[in-house]
Amino acid sequence: MSRPRIVIVGAGFAGYRTARVLSRLARDRADVTLLNPTDYFLYLPLLPQVAAGILEPRRVTVSLTDTLPRVRLVLGEADGIDLDGRMVHYSDPEGGGGTLGYDRLVLAAGSVNKLLPIPGIAERAHGFRGLPEALYLRDHVTRQVELAAAEGNPAGCAARCTFVVVGAGYTGTEVAAHGQMFTDAQVRKHPLRQGMRPRWILLDVAPRVLPELDERLSRTADRVLRQRGVDVRMGTSVKEAVHGGVLLTDGQFVESRTLVWCVGVRPDPLVEALGQPLERGRLLVDPHLQVPGRPEVFACGDAAAVPDLERPGQYTPMTAQHAWRQGKVCAHNIAASFGDGERRAYRHRDLGFVVDLGGAKAAANPLGVPLSGLAAGAVTRGYHLAAMPGNRVRVAADWLLDAVLPRQAVQLGLVRAWSVPLDAAAPELPRTPTAAAGPGPGAADTGATALSARNQPGSGAAPQQAAPEPVRSPSAPDESHHLSPGPVKRNDIPAEGDR
Ligand SMILES: Cc1cc2nc3c(=O)[nH]c(=O)nc-3n(C[C@H](O)[C@H](O)[C@H](O)COP(=O)(O)OP(=O)(O)OC[C@H]3O[C@@H](n4cnc5c(N)ncnc54)[C@H](O)[C@@H]3O)c2cc1C
Repeated sequence: MSRPRIVIVGAGFAGYRTARVLSRLARDRADVTLLNPTDYFLYLPLLPQVAAGILEPRRVTVSLTDTLPRVRLVLGEADGIDLDGRMVHYSDPEGGGGTLGYDRLVLAAGSVNKLLPIPGIAERAHGFRGLPEALYLRDHVTRQVELAAAEGNPAGCAARCTFVVVGAGYTGTEVAAHGQMFTDAQVRKHPLRQGMRPRWILLDVAPRVLPELDERLSRTADRVLRQRGVDVRMGTSVKEAVHGGVLLTDGQFVESRTLVWCVGVRPDPLVEALGQPLERGRLLVDPHLQVPGRPEVFACGDAAAVPDLERPGQYTPMTAQHAWRQGKVCAHNIAASFGDGERRAYRHRDLGFVVDLGGAKAAANPLGVPLSGLAAGAVTRGYHLAAMPGNRVRVAADWLLDAVLPRQAVQLGLVRAWSVPLDAAAPELPRTPTAAAGPGPGAADTGATALSARNQPGSGAAPQQAAPEPVRSPSAPDESHHLSPGPVKRNDIPAEGDR
């Protein structure tokens, strides 16, 4: 008899853990295939440290083939799923594609940047959900400080040194906290940059930073941010983003060349296209992580609405903590569906949260015990090292180097503004200047729900968004000369979009 085929879509916290546990449980009794656009698992919680130049980008990645030797990796993105035919259609990174048949399917495609219908945001803001965005921000911020230093006009200098972060959840809070340190270090001790005052502004409509976490964590984070010089403005957001700055909801206009959008995430659009019941865009599953009426389809992580048995009537929040643990339960329940063990319901009580604020500062509440200062810093870094499924020594080495050496502030300029649009349906990949943005071959004429050209302009438009203008992409004549994954020329770059 042929071996059962298990296909996992997405190699993030949930998918990676499912694959890892399954490959141990199944050994050689099943074919486990992992479909992911990159060949690495990305440890997202350390992304702000990549943007701030503390960690080199490869440090926060873990090779899928090295750490999952019994799992077949297929590089690509699912762009259509035929639930009746039990097929996943995908496009590969070079424009080809294929089809994967399955006996069990795991949907763990995660989430993408959340958009809001605010004028100018889709065109001028950048999200913070993937490695390309973190690399873009690191380069962009460095470039702004360098350009500001060469500005003759003080107003222009101040605008370049003003960085606006929208959203004071853990992502925005960490980005602003690290960002202020990063830019301060770039002007401090530099004789020609005296008088330059980098200013990070953190905005949120909520009344406090970290609005979804324990109030004690908020107080710690708020204090550290303000002491560091971050301009924390709660109860305030962006009304409109225009060239040269942002208009705030309190009527003030802030001149700036940087708008980082950290207002949250929404489930990957892949699940929406399935035509199955959703809960706020997440695919509804039962406590065993199975899609009702489709027992062969499992879903977990940010893309799935998993009933929270610890808080009846609610769904588990979109956190790595839950995604990682759901991956393990998912693997066990798949094994159980083949008669190996008993299936179990997902149940997990939050173990607390850690928020890295840069330097030795952090806010943490492990097991509900609120910590600040050095203790929080040590717990936070220790937690991340323990939680990473690989690359720990390299991460620790970078932290050590950062503690004893000045941070390297050079911009390589490899990721440009237009390649990391806010509305990307695949923030893990930079958009390439391609004209050949057709659907994957497998999606054609199959009856599958197709999601083609996931990273092309407008592809990630959220249902709640009021028809955003498409993000500008390179002009047509250049596109024809620079098909993915070709080189990028200076004149590929839209003048205004690449501020
Ligand atoms: C900057 C940042 C910091 C964070 N910090 C924390 C933290 O400190 N603590 C915490 O608990 N949570 C944190 N989170 C949230 C946490 O990272 C997410 O909840 C978690 O990653 C969700 O896991 P997942 O497996 O569902 O999705 P992901 O980890 O995002 O993985 C999804 C995977 O699916 C792939 N994929 C997407 N679409 C497709 C497709 N069509 N076909 C194939 N593959 C696809 C993606 O490339 C990715 O590899 C943070 C998030 C961000 C962005």
